[in-house]
Amino acid sequence: MIRPYLGRIGLCLLLVLASTGIQLTLPLGIRHLFDRMLIGGDTGAMHLVTAVLFGIFVLRSVFSYFGQLMIQLISDRIIVELRYQLFRHLHALDIQFHHQQRVGDLMSRLNTDVNAIRNLAASLSISVIVNSLQLVGAASVMLYMNWKLGLMVLTVAPMTTILSTLFRDAFRRYSLQMQDEMAKSSVIAQESLSGMEVIKGFARDAHEAERYRDRLMQFIVVVTGARKTEALFNALLSLISSSSTIAIFWFGGLQVIDGSLSAGTLVAFLLYSQSTTGSIASLAQNHSSFVQAVAASRRVFEILDTPPRVVDRPDASVLQPAPADLRFEGVRFSYRPGTPVVDGIDFAVAPGETVALVGPSGAGKSTLFKLLSRFYDPAEGAITINGRDIRDYTQASLREAVAVVPQDVYLFGCSVRENIRYGRLDATDTEIESAARAANAHEFILALPQGYETTVGERGVQLSGGQRQRISIARALLKNAPILLLDEATSSVDGASEGAIQEAIERLKHKRTTLIVAHRLATVRNADRILVIDRGRIKAQPSYAELIAGETLRAAELGLRVEDDRAEACEETADASK
Ligand code: ATP
Repeated sequence: MIRPYLGRIGLCLLLVLASTGIQLTLPLGIRHLFDRMLIGGDTGAMHLVTAVLFGIFVLRSVFSYFGQLMIQLISDRIIVELRYQLFRHLHALDIQFHHQQRVGDLMSRLNTDVNAIRNLAASLSISVIVNSLQLVGAASVMLYMNWKLGLMVLTVAPMTTILSTLFRDAFRRYSLQMQDEMAKSSVIAQESLSGMEVIKGFARDAHEAERYRDRLMQFIVVVTGARKTEALFNALLSLISSSSTIAIFWFGGLQVIDGSLSAGTLVAFLLYSQSTTGSIASLAQNHSSFVQAVAASRRVFEILDTPPRVVDRPDASVLQPAPADLRFEGVRFSYRPGTPVVDGIDFAVAPGETVALVGPSGAGKSTLFKLLSRFYDPAEGAITINGRDIRDYTQASLREAVAVVPQDVYLFGCSVRENIRYGRLDATDTEIESAARAANAHEFILALPQGYETTVGERGVQLSGGQRQRISIARALLKNAPILLLDEATSSVDGASEGAIQEAIERLKHKRTTLIVAHRLATVRNADRILVIDRGRIKAQPSYAELIAGETLRAAELGLRVEDDRAEACEETADASK
């Protein structure tokens, strides 16, 4: 990430180098002022030297301005790139990874931790360079001017190093704990804000506030420890630096009195010793910020270094959007070792055919969808489309060929139009509206305050369950994929809405290879075939008449909602027995 900026970073270094070099000449200039002009009483030269000194320092400020500005701007760009790569990698990672992570923690890595790394990149790097240069430069000049006094100033360095070593482990421990606590509190905040309806429904606002407060208190405990350590470290550091300055004043002062040192040299020494001890102290403090940035980068690179479990094969081909022949061949899969969720499933769906999957809750129906979308790969067996294993296709082309209408529809916090457009990003407004018409969504969308431009909130909170389903159907219609996976919502909607949804589903199914997890008898009736799934296996393949002849209780056991269709189903049973 740094590589593209190497030239500009080099330029920054030159500017910083120049500005530090100038800074180092200040004490020498002042020595000159003291010894030659102040004591000699040369007023004219005094004016001149002061003016030259001023000019030089204006130049130093200009160098420093450009150097600092450039490094900050470069850091911003590098950090934006890092954040972007982290975001992209999070999207490249498999669903299993995301199920194991908490969103708040990932957000904290994306924001807080990346910011901590930015500090390392910008302020720290500059500060380390400037201080190191200042230290080496000032030390050389001092040793040259008076090696005894010089050595006295430099004793600060080993003392500070010892102090830093003593505090290093504590700093590292506190940094990790602080970042961890930050992440934990952002997990609670994120979960709490997302689950607002449940919280309000159970009147748990105070409980949530308390939970957040408890977490913040834990943070305060860690942060208090960290601040105490930091304050003690800084106090000891400043004691070491001031002791050194006082020692110089005492030892150098005695030399001035006995005439072996000029007053100007002592003043220059005091200034150099200030800058040296300041540099050493800054380097020691940089060390603690560095430890913090390292802890943060560990959390960021932990994600960047996690390889996705589902990847494209190197020779993967593109699945063309054509009528699809779909087969499950001896598919076995488990989320956790030893508990099979799909336990040897074989079936085929011909192009244009609709197969309804019914079965009790937890039977593994939705898992079949996840396997088909390659959210997970089967442990055994294969899923094929048009005779080829889906692992031979690129994930992108496979998912383009599959339209999913999930049970729980996620709507983005933008307009209805943009939400439907998510099905096909280059769709025109006319295409969006005709998809909405076919999904029986056009009328209710027009009745919204701003029609298609109405913002539907982060999760479409202003829309009813049935309306959200129809938006989701419109999205799938717009996508126009050859395979359709429909996880019918279990929640009931009113009769009119139900009819509209059913009609939209029929349009959506048209000429597509369709798999439906059915929760309504009407859906089952309209399917070409029915598979009863139980404990990850196909238990039976009844006809519709056989299924409803199994009585309503049996249908309910299979997770089918029967109330709405009871009268009709009974009539049909009667017809069948006639
Ligand atoms: P429903 O009709 O209630 O949606 P289903 O037949 O679709 O049920 P699945 O969602 O496929 O059932 O779940 C099958 C089993 O796998 C369940 O026992 C469930 O607890 C488990 N399961 C589902 N998702 C995961 C996951 N991400 N990690 C671990 N186990 C899971």
